[in-house]
Amino acid sequence: MRPTRLPLIAGNWKMNTTVADARALASALASNLNGVPDVEVLLCPPFISLTTVGNEIAGTSLKLGAQNLHPEPKGAFTGEVSPTMLSSLCDYVVIGHSERRTHFGEDDAFVNSKVHAALAHDIIPILCVGETLAQREFNTTGEVLTRQTTLGFKDLSPDADFVVAYEPIWAIGTGKAASASDAEQAISLIRQTISQQLGDNAAEKTRILYGGSVKSSNITDFISSPQIDGALVGGASLDPNDFSGIVTATSQFRPG
Ligand code: PEP
Repeated sequence: MRPTRLPLIAGNWKMNTTVADARALASALASNLNGVPDVEVLLCPPFISLTTVGNEIAGTSLKLGAQNLHPEPKGAFTGEVSPTMLSSLCDYVVIGHSERRTHFGEDDAFVNSKVHAALAHDIIPILCVGETLAQREFNTTGEVLTRQTTLGFKDLSPDADFVVAYEPIWAIGTGKAASASDAEQAISLIRQTISQQLGDNAAEKTRILYGGSVKSSNITDFISSPQIDGALVGGASLDPNDFSGIVTATSQFRPG
């Protein structure tokens, strides 16, 4: 039996696109993807393009997300962007991406404070979790995923609306996607962890995405699993044809 969770395909544009590039990409995606059934489509451009992309997709079915936020509502945090600033613009925010954990030293406690801040401002957090290649080779993937999920969702209400993205770090931007069975196993463990922490209902309703070198040519491998509720897409989200192919393949596959 297929779950009733609506698949989500999210594009993380990372630190790419000028404002003009972002407008053109959003415009192409809005015309390709507005109204595509049975899948939710989310664009996460850089902060400076949120308003432009938001205007470009206004009135369409596409959703807007940020790639990060600071947990404080305002104050002396030069260069940061707060949930108060984002709440009128964004539906979602990516939190704890491995690039932020690695390059900006974000630990699980800080990530957890961002999850709470997003929820307090009606922004749906997408918590990213995933193991390094070394952790995978030392067979500690399960431990890492359990820790990042448990600490990332510490003190959360079971009723909260949130998404998880399982992103093995060794698969991000490398062209070497995880196998669908490895992704399914990891995602089942994350769902079990949510069930133990927040209850069966929370685990059943939560969408858990796979991320790591997803393209239109391999999305069906992942979306075929009833455990995998969509994808967080980096590189391929910058190509309107490839990203549209990922979305339409997902739309055609689900519900099955
Ligand atoms: C990502 O950055 O979240 C990601 C999954 O990147 P890519 O699709 O390029 O591997």
